[in-house]
Amino acid sequence: GYGVTRVEIPENGQGAEIPGEVLGPALRQRATMLAERLGTTRIWHVSSTATGGGVAELLWSSIAYQRVLGLPAHWLVTEAEPEFFRLTKRIHHGLHGHRIPAFTPEDEEFYRSVTARSAARLAEHVAPGDLALLHDPQTAGAVPSLVEAGVRIAWRCHVGTHGGGGALGATWEFLRPYLENVPHGVFTDAAFAPDYLPAARRSVITPSIDPGSPKNRELSAEQQRALLARIGLIPDSSNGDEPIGYTIQDEPLPHDVPVVTQVSRWDPLKDMLGVLRTFTEDLALYSRAHLLLAGPDPDDVADDPEGAAVFAEVRRTWETLPPDARARVHLVMLSLRDLTLNGLAVNAVQRRSTIVAQKSLEEGFGLTVTEAMWKARPLVVSGVGGLLVQIRDKSTGILVDPLDYPAFGKALDELLRRPGYAAELGRAARRDCRERFLVSRELTDYLELYTRMLD
Ligand code: UDP
Repeated sequence: GYGVTRVEIPENGQGAEIPGEVLGPALRQRATMLAERLGTTRIWHVSSTATGGGVAELLWSSIAYQRVLGLPAHWLVTEAEPEFFRLTKRIHHGLHGHRIPAFTPEDEEFYRSVTARSAARLAEHVAPGDLALLHDPQTAGAVPSLVEAGVRIAWRCHVGTHGGGGALGATWEFLRPYLENVPHGVFTDAAFAPDYLPAARRSVITPSIDPGSPKNRELSAEQQRALLARIGLIPDSSNGDEPIGYTIQDEPLPHDVPVVTQVSRWDPLKDMLGVLRTFTEDLALYSRAHLLLAGPDPDDVADDPEGAAVFAEVRRTWETLPPDARARVHLVMLSLRDLTLNGLAVNAVQRRSTIVAQKSLEEGFGLTVTEAMWKARPLVVSGVGGLLVQIRDKSTGILVDPLDYPAFGKALDELLRRPGYAAELGRAARRDCRERFLVSRELTDYLELYTRMLD
């Protein structure tokens, strides 16, 4: 049957060295005080997966650091049948404001029964008085019975968008029976919360990145070269390490050219095709820049037919480009078989970039943008959703209207022509990221939330 599994968290999370900037003295002191106050009370994080996706990635770092800080933090994963995850994927899309098939009474009953089963299994681990943070719509159904059992509950939603009505409104209504009375709702942006949750029970925690993770740690020039060779982007002069991806290109990337990059899943909302078209129609004619479009190898993401279709379209478009433009576009497929190596590959690609673009048509919160900020890359991103919270226009990056392709091309062109200005944006982005988007800030937010949950 489907149960609840406990995730074993190594002291150092994903094997990262703990960088000095993560756990400062103030944070340590607050954590010690909280640990004393907690006594034998434990802290549980509950999610529906420990692998894949940004939420899981973040929980590894964040929970590991909480344990290093002396907090009794644990992680439980609720298992369920594939049909349940198909339903919660629809909920997920709905909370992003996409059109989805209407929920039926059968959907309601199915959601209720699966999450009731999870709640019963969770109660075998979580004692009354413990703190439990339930993550995302997959766990929301367990809220009421755990509250009733005397567990101190918060529900954190990692998805969301502005606005109401439509699919978004219908999806929040679907979840209403479970969330209406949740003691604490945690959102990426205050405006992402459903109307029925009063302001006093809402809080905001912005997603963060871990500067010690494979994806974000410093790389030596040698490491970077080796990684770019292992994804096939530059010639492999070395030792024949296993490939960790491959690149579709006419010629390898020259070492001395400026590079515009977008790293994304092959999802229509990431608009990889729009980036490709803008680059080839506007930029390729006037600059020496090359374009990298990097994403997961579609062969490694078996359950995403949409991704494979988007990639196929990008590839077809690339094949029909005029030779000049085509020689300057590189399609990078990153293997997902080893997540540490995948993180290192993303890291190397981002660090090789002169400019990082994220031209999404919609975005709850773009981790790729935060990752590029930390690497002090100048950014050109769409002014939508969470990206508006992340980037301050003309100070930590450039915001463009997602449908204004000429403006997007112009912004890229300007940054290529004005390297001094671009570098200044990059430095400001890194400073801002250190202050607002590192896991240390998220840990501080968690400590505050735990304190409120205890009060
Ligand atoms: N990513 C990755 N490998 C890839 C493409 C993306 O590891 O081939 C990572 C990327 O670095 C980021 C995450 O996937 O950490 C994507 O998160 P984001 O919030 O940008 O978008 P989402 O995919 O959640 O819509």
